Amino acid sequence: MRVSDARYGRDIRRYELAWKLVRFDARTRTIKRWTGLSGYRIRTFYRAYAAGEPAVSGSPLRGVAPTQVQFFWKSAQLKCEAAVLAGFLRTFHALPASSGEVDPDSLPSIPRGERLCRAYEEFQSLVPDTEITIEYAMLLLAELVRGVQMELGRCSTCQVLILVDRLAIAATQCAYCAHEARAGLPYPVTLVAAQPTLNPEEEPEDPTPGKQGRLF
Ligand SMILES: [Zn+2]
Repeated sequence: MRVSDARYGRDIRRYELAWKLVRFDARTRTIKRWTGLSGYRIRTFYRAYAAGEPAVSGSPLRGVAPTQVQFFWKSAQLKCEAAVLAGFLRTFHALPASSGEVDPDSLPSIPRGERLCRAYEEFQSLVPDTEITIEYAMLLLAELVRGVQMELGRCSTCQVLILVDRLAIAATQCAYCAHEARAGLPYPVTLVAAQPTLNPEEEPEDPTPGKQGRLF
């Protein structure tokens, strides 16, 4: 459903963002922060538009949004997914170009919220079963801007984009290279980006197994 009722006038973008966040199961408090809508208006909006939508849960989530950065270090899978999401956040300019000069608390806004949702939609289309919710995406964005516990970097072995734990002393490697290093096995990484551009008609139908490409 697309919100298009003229009664919302100039607030239409605000409500469209709220609608996207509702569909992503964001908490009321989170929607308030990013859209500037009051709790009353969000609840009214929710009752008017979300009720009966199969893709939306029966009521908005309550409580506090996640704040634990350790979530992203729980598994190699999550580390990889978070790096992919961070790449989309950067590509869609949800992540400010000069993070050091931005106050993380000033991030929520309508334009940035729209860019964040666009990045998250792309990410979710690539990783539909991810554990990273839209609120974890917001946490990732804020922590990357803060730059205290994590930052974006490159794998020291294969150069793919990775999320670097700034408090860890381990080598900055992607999950694949770290796994191979621990196992003591050679890993013939081939960067797709470093290869000459192929004519689409020449693209092999069955890519060689074991090659790691990169998105960003
Ligand atoms: Zn690597």
